[in-house]
Amino acid sequence: YPSLKDKHVFITGGASGIGRSLVEHFVDQGSVVTFVDLNDDAAADVIKGCVARGGRPPVYQYLNLRNVEALEAFITKSGVERGPISVLVNNAGNDDRHQLSEVTSEYFDDRIAVNLRHQVFAAKAVVSQMKGLGGGSIINLSSITWMEADGDGVCYVTAKAAVHGMTRALARELGPDNIRVNSIAPGWIMTERQVDLWLTPEGEKQIDARQVLPGRIYPPEIARMALFLASDDSRMISKQSFIVDAGWI
Ligand code: NAD
Repeated sequence: YPSLKDKHVFITGGASGIGRSLVEHFVDQGSVVTFVDLNDDAAADVIKGCVARGGRPPVYQYLNLRNVEALEAFITKSGVERGPISVLVNNAGNDDRHQLSEVTSEYFDDRIAVNLRHQVFAAKAVVSQMKGLGGGSIINLSSITWMEADGDGVCYVTAKAAVHGMTRALARELGPDNIRVNSIAPGWIMTERQVDLWLTPEGEKQIDARQVLPGRIYPPEIARMALFLASDDSRMISKQSFIVDAGWI
């Protein structure tokens, strides 16, 4: 995607799983990548990997996304130091599962903070930078769980359903400034974490019973969808959710 070369791309949760693959794929396109996470060691490993691939080293900042004031300040600072952000990938999330009977109001608020609130405030912080560029692309990670709701906890499902609605609302509001907003709803993705959980005989049986396609979905499948949604090739696509689940839903 030539349109991604030298573009400043901001990614949350870039130190592992899908986020790591996002960082690598945008670096491979020649983008200027900035990412935040909570895991310094894993982030250092991501940077090392990008350099080994011959890419421009991404910049990492430790940042707890629960603190949206710090997030907004860092996005503003990054835009000044590395050029205005033209692509935001709101990737970070956590699918900690609890049943309703175990949910306290503090726990509920924290799950919303980790899975939803930072996406809204990151978008708020990039708007003026994108307007200055004449447009931009915001990509929010949702999940098929917002439709499927099969096994995930109530807080995670609630947050991911809200990501879907929030995406549509922001697409409507920001569209006139040529800022596109879309979401990606992954199915069962074999991240480091999920591999341990699902690549067992029982886990594989469950996946095979639901996916219409054979094989397993790995993080690059999601990263490639994000590249498309970030690039000019999708310039007339906004307010949509893209399901990448091998036909699970
Ligand atoms: P992951 O746990 O492997 O990676 C998430 C990253 O986000 C981690 O590096 C973590 O440290 C970071 N992070 C979490 N909370 C943070 C916080 N408060 N502040 C800063 N960083 C934080 O997860 P993943 O599986 O790669 O998931 C990425 C996104 O995709 C999430 O939004 C997730 O809900 C969504 N998703 C994943 C799957 C899947 O099967 N893996 C399926 C559907 C949706």
